[in-house]
Amino acid sequence: MKALIIVDMLQDFVEGALANPRAVAIVEPLQRLLAHARESGWVVVFSNDAHLPDDPELRVWGPHAMAGSPGAQVIRALAPAPGPREFVSPKRVYGAFDGTGLDERLKAFGVDEVVISGQHTHICVRHSSYGALTRGYTITIPADAVCAFEGVDEEAALEYLKGVYGARITTSDALMQETPMAKSVETR
Ligand code: ZN
Repeated sequence: MKALIIVDMLQDFVEGALANPRAVAIVEPLQRLLAHARESGWVVVFSNDAHLPDDPELRVWGPHAMAGSPGAQVIRALAPAPGPREFVSPKRVYGAFDGTGLDERLKAFGVDEVVISGQHTHICVRHSSYGALTRGYTITIPADAVCAFEGVDEEAALEYLKGVYGARITTSDALMQETPMAKSVETR
Protein backbone atom coordinates (compact mmCIF):
# COMPACT_ATOMS: atom_id res chain seq x y z
CA MET A 1 0.00 0.00 0.00
CA LYS A 2 1.33 3.38 -1.01
CA ALA A 3 0.97 6.72 0.70
CA LEU A 4 1.53 9.99 -1.12
CA ILE A 5 3.09 12.46 1.30
CA ILE A 6 3.00 16.06 0.12
CA VAL A 7 5.41 18.07 2.24
CA ASP A 8 5.05 21.79 2.94
CA MET A 9 3.28 22.98 -0.19
CA LEU A 10 2.11 25.89 1.91
CA GLN A 11 1.48 29.50 1.03
CA ASP A 12 4.55 30.63 2.98
CA PHE A 13 6.76 28.17 1.07
CA VAL A 14 5.45 29.05 -2.37
CA GLU A 15 4.83 32.79 -2.31
CA GLY A 16 5.01 33.91 1.34
CA ALA A 17 7.72 34.23 4.01
CA LEU A 18 10.01 31.58 2.45
CA ALA A 19 8.81 31.89 -1.13
CA ASN A 20 10.54 29.61 -3.63
CA PRO A 21 10.21 30.31 -7.36
CA ARG A 22 11.10 26.67 -8.08
CA ALA A 23 7.95 25.53 -6.29
CA VAL A 24 5.73 26.83 -9.09
CA ALA A 25 7.07 24.19 -11.49
CA ILE A 26 6.16 21.25 -9.26
CA VAL A 27 2.53 22.23 -8.73
CA GLU A 28 1.24 20.70 -11.97
CA PRO A 29 2.95 17.31 -11.49
CA LEU A 30 1.74 17.33 -7.90
CA GLN A 31 -1.83 17.97 -9.02
CA ARG A 32 -1.68 14.97 -11.33
CA LEU A 33 -0.06 12.77 -8.68
CA LEU A 34 -2.65 13.83 -6.12
CA ALA A 35 -5.52 13.01 -8.47
CA HIS A 36 -3.91 9.66 -9.26
CA ALA A 37 -3.35 8.83 -5.60
CA ARG A 38 -6.97 9.63 -4.75
CA GLU A 39 -8.34 7.55 -7.61
CA SER A 40 -5.99 4.66 -6.88
CA GLY A 41 -6.91 4.45 -3.21
CA TRP A 42 -3.51 5.47 -1.88
CA VAL A 43 -3.36 7.10 1.50
CA VAL A 44 -2.81 10.85 1.03
CA VAL A 45 -0.98 12.90 3.65
CA PHE A 46 -0.31 16.61 3.73
CA SER A 47 2.70 16.96 6.03
CA ASN A 48 2.52 20.61 6.96
CA ASP A 49 4.62 22.92 9.06
CA ALA A 50 2.43 24.39 11.80
CA HIS A 51 4.86 26.27 14.01
CA LEU A 52 4.48 27.67 17.49
CA PRO A 53 6.48 30.75 18.50
CA ASP A 54 9.06 28.83 20.58
CA ASP A 55 9.92 26.23 17.93
CA PRO A 56 13.74 26.00 17.71
CA GLU A 57 13.73 26.00 13.90
CA LEU A 58 12.49 29.59 13.85
CA ARG A 59 15.94 30.66 15.02
CA VAL A 60 17.24 29.52 11.66
CA TRP A 61 14.47 30.63 9.31
CA GLY A 62 12.51 33.27 11.16
CA PRO A 63 8.75 32.97 11.55
CA HIS A 64 7.07 30.91 8.81
CA ALA A 65 4.01 28.69 8.50
CA MET A 66 2.82 29.70 11.96
CA ALA A 67 -0.01 27.45 13.15
CA GLY A 68 -3.37 28.83 12.16
CA SER A 69 -1.98 31.57 9.92
CA PRO A 70 -2.74 31.90 6.18
CA GLY A 71 0.92 31.09 5.46
CA ALA A 72 0.44 27.65 7.00
CA GLN A 73 -2.37 26.78 4.56
CA VAL A 74 -1.75 24.41 1.65
CA ILE A 75 -1.84 26.34 -1.63
CA ARG A 76 -5.25 26.36 -3.23
CA ALA A 77 -4.14 24.31 -6.28
CA LEU A 78 -3.42 21.35 -3.99
CA ALA A 79 -6.20 21.81 -1.45
CA PRO A 80 -6.57 18.87 0.94
CA ALA A 81 -9.86 16.97 0.90
CA PRO A 82 -9.77 15.21 4.28
CA GLY A 83 -11.55 11.88 4.32
CA PRO A 84 -11.09 8.27 5.39
CA ARG A 85 -7.79 7.94 3.51
CA GLU A 86 -6.64 11.56 3.34
CA PHE A 87 -5.51 13.79 6.18
CA VAL A 88 -3.34 16.70 7.22
CA SER A 89 -0.43 15.84 9.53
CA PRO A 90 0.93 18.97 11.25
CA LYS A 91 4.60 19.07 12.21
CA ARG A 92 6.85 21.45 14.15
CA VAL A 93 10.19 20.21 12.81
CA TYR A 94 11.61 19.17 9.43
CA GLY A 95 10.71 15.48 9.50
CA ALA A 96 7.16 14.30 8.73
CA PHE A 97 7.54 11.42 11.21
CA ASP A 98 8.98 13.37 14.13
CA GLY A 99 6.50 13.77 16.98
CA THR A 100 3.50 13.52 14.66
CA GLY A 101 2.14 10.00 15.08
CA LEU A 102 2.31 9.63 11.30
CA ASP A 103 4.04 6.24 11.45
CA GLU A 104 1.22 4.72 13.51
CA ARG A 105 -1.43 6.17 11.20
CA LEU A 106 0.27 4.86 8.06
CA LYS A 107 0.89 1.42 9.53
CA ALA A 108 -2.81 1.21 10.48
CA PHE A 109 -3.57 1.55 6.76
CA GLY A 110 -0.99 -1.10 5.88
CA VAL A 111 1.24 1.40 4.12
CA ASP A 112 4.67 0.01 3.26
CA GLU A 113 5.80 2.50 0.59
CA VAL A 114 5.87 6.26 0.89
CA VAL A 115 5.97 8.54 -2.13
CA ILE A 116 7.51 11.70 -0.71
CA SER A 117 6.93 14.91 -2.65
CA GLY A 118 6.90 18.67 -2.17
CA GLN A 119 9.50 20.84 -0.47
CA HIS A 120 12.37 20.97 0.08
CA THR A 121 14.39 18.15 -1.41
CA HIS A 122 17.40 18.90 0.81
CA ILE A 123 15.55 19.75 4.04
CA CYS A 124 12.08 18.43 4.93
CA VAL A 125 11.89 15.82 2.13
CA ARG A 126 15.30 14.64 3.28
CA HIS A 127 14.45 14.46 6.98
CA SER A 128 11.13 12.81 6.18
CA SER A 129 12.98 10.25 4.07
CA TYR A 130 15.27 9.48 6.99
CA GLY A 131 12.22 9.00 9.20
CA ALA A 132 10.70 6.68 6.60
CA LEU A 133 13.89 4.64 6.29
CA THR A 134 14.28 4.09 10.01
CA ARG A 135 10.64 3.02 10.28
CA GLY A 136 10.98 0.45 7.52
CA TYR A 137 9.19 2.07 4.58
CA THR A 138 10.21 1.80 0.96
CA ILE A 139 10.89 5.33 -0.26
CA THR A 140 9.98 6.64 -3.69
CA ILE A 141 10.78 10.17 -4.82
CA PRO A 142 9.19 11.62 -7.98
CA ALA A 143 11.98 13.97 -9.06
CA ASP A 144 9.66 16.36 -10.92
CA ALA A 145 7.41 16.74 -7.87
CA VAL A 146 10.06 17.86 -5.37
CA CYS A 147 12.28 20.92 -5.31
CA ALA A 148 15.01 22.54 -3.27
CA PHE A 149 15.61 26.25 -2.77
CA GLU A 150 17.08 28.22 -5.63
CA GLY A 151 20.86 27.95 -5.60
CA VAL A 152 20.77 24.41 -4.20
CA ASP A 153 21.95 21.58 -6.45
CA GLU A 154 18.79 19.55 -7.07
CA GLU A 155 20.66 16.57 -8.50
CA ALA A 156 22.97 16.38 -5.49
CA ALA A 157 19.98 16.55 -3.16
CA LEU A 158 18.33 13.64 -4.99
CA GLU A 159 21.56 11.69 -5.08
CA TYR A 160 21.78 11.97 -1.29
CA LEU A 161 18.29 10.50 -0.90
CA LYS A 162 19.21 7.65 -3.21
CA GLY A 163 22.67 6.97 -1.81
CA VAL A 164 21.99 7.36 1.90
CA TYR A 165 18.34 6.35 2.29
CA GLY A 166 17.98 3.94 -0.62
CA ALA A 167 15.22 6.06 -2.17
CA ARG A 168 14.03 5.12 -5.61
CA ILE A 169 14.20 8.23 -7.79
CA THR A 170 11.59 8.25 -10.53
CA THR A 171 9.20 10.65 -12.25
CA SER A 172 5.54 11.25 -11.55
CA ASP A 173 4.59 9.95 -15.02
CA ALA A 174 6.56 6.72 -14.58
CA LEU A 175 5.08 6.26 -11.13
CA MET A 176 1.53 6.71 -12.38
CA GLN A 177 2.09 4.19 -15.18
CA GLU A 178 3.19 1.55 -12.66
CA THR A 179 -0.14 1.53 -10.93
CA PRO A 180 -3.00 1.91 -13.40
CA MET A 181 -5.96 3.74 -11.94
CA ALA A 182 -8.72 1.53 -10.60
CA LYS A 183 -11.12 2.91 -13.20
CA SER A 184 -8.97 1.97 -16.17
CA VAL A 185 -8.48 -1.52 -14.77
CA GLU A 186 -12.23 -2.00 -14.56
CA THR A 187 -12.80 -1.08 -18.20
CA ARG A 188 -10.24 -3.52 -19.55
ZN1 ZN B 1 9.50 25.02 9.43
